Amino acid sequence: KVTLFWFRRDLRLSDNIGLFTAYENEKNVLPLFIFDENILEKLENKNDARVQFIHNQVKKLHSALKDYDSSILVKIGKPLAIFEALTKAYAIQNVYTNRDYEPYARDRDEKIEQFLAEKDIPFYDFKDQVIFEKDEITNNSGSYYKVFTPYSKSWLQKLKQTTLTPVDLDGRKKSFYKTQPFPLPSLKDLGFKTSENSIPPLEIDEKLIRAYDKNRDFPARQGTSRLGIHLRFGTISIRRLVSEAHELNDTYLNELIWREFYMMILYHNPALVDTSFKEKYDRIRWDNNEELFQKWCEGKTGYPLVDAGMRELNTTGYMHNRVRMLTASFLTKHLLIDWRWGEAYFASKLLDYELASNNGGWQWAAGTGTDAQPYFRIFNPESQMKKFDKDKKYIKKWIPEYGSSAYPKPIVEHKQARERALETYKKALDGE
Ligand code: FAD
Repeated sequence: KVTLFWFRRDLRLSDNIGLFTAYENEKNVLPLFIFDENILEKLENKNDARVQFIHNQVKKLHSALKDYDSSILVKIGKPLAIFEALTKAYAIQNVYTNRDYEPYARDRDEKIEQFLAEKDIPFYDFKDQVIFEKDEITNNSGSYYKVFTPYSKSWLQKLKQTTLTPVDLDGRKKSFYKTQPFPLPSLKDLGFKTSENSIPPLEIDEKLIRAYDKNRDFPARQGTSRLGIHLRFGTISIRRLVSEAHELNDTYLNELIWREFYMMILYHNPALVDTSFKEKYDRIRWDNNEELFQKWCEGKTGYPLVDAGMRELNTTGYMHNRVRMLTASFLTKHLLIDWRWGEAYFASKLLDYELASNNGGWQWAAGTGTDAQPYFRIFNPESQMKKFDKDKKYIKKWIPEYGSSAYPKPIVEHKQARERALETYKKALDGE
């Protein structure tokens, strides 16, 4: 009899709550990873660096499990069908995993749990990806918070009563299923190729985090941690990072709280995937001009800080937060293009793409979200540049033709675009 431990976005052995619990409570723990075709099929770019990243991490797990005389079973397919096959191939006693809060994942897990229940196989899931989930942080009347500041206060309060001590496997071999290493599919077997994008290293740079509040707003500086992709796929433990952040820098910790806030908001509002948090805003009549959208995607709007950001994204799969805010605001307000278009574009490119934060960030910029930027506050791309890239270091890095005639003229005029946005938003909100 085996216990399956199903890895998803928690690709590490250390301080992994679900894995640790299985290891403590069960014998013959058999690790499993599924390359989910439902997800892979949607990725148009076959050089997607995220798939390569996951593949590499699975390879590392495969190698680390040799120390336990064990291995990881790696499958490619639709998860339910894989579980159907696994129940035939193994005598499965129970299944352990860590919880995922995205709508697709919840639906998938529910179906698998039901299928397993029919076979009397319990499905145990654990909180691992966040410090606080679902309804753990609520207001005095027991409802979830819809605004960040009181949520973060309550979150910090609760952190005081919470232990973040890591749970680590102690090297006991007996808990794992004994096997020779299983074969590992190659990237090619998955239908993917290697990518040229480089992945930021998994390292908590203490010096950087200590100075985070001073440097984080300037895109030309190495002022942020670049740990997004590691948080997304769980190659770092959030408990470990929060313990460090708590010691090192409150502003940094605050950003990690934003991450959990958006996950909690999405958990309570799965419809946010394609609707505005403030429903009235779905009455906005977007202009949705495809040609202008294309120019925005390519970084050819004639607004240097916007263009530098988009080119950084297209080249590296990363964009600095300050510039994410500006490019998103520019798309939705200056160009009056639906935030869903921009969100989908970011989702296809960002290595650290995280549904909850991307959706939250876009809805914030478009003015449609929880703590949103009020619609009448419209970033001025010129003054943002003067404030945050006054030496034009970031701009020149990404726009080699900056200042020459080859650089495009602005595709919209700031004042006019601003007026048009104000009018359009106002109309929608007045219900005209
Ligand atoms: P750091 O500044 O070093 O922060 C550390 C970690 O805190 C980040 O890795 C992230 O997990 C979290 N974090 C930081 N800022 C935020 C925030 N505002 N909201 C939620 N979590 C935050 N973040 C994503 O992780 N994935 C996304 O797909 C994403 N899309 C965004 C889209 C828009 C339009 C905007 C305005 C923001 C988006 N963000 C997203 C938030 C933020 O820009 C990134 O988390 C950050 O820039 C990642 O760089 P870093 O790892 O160096 O972050």
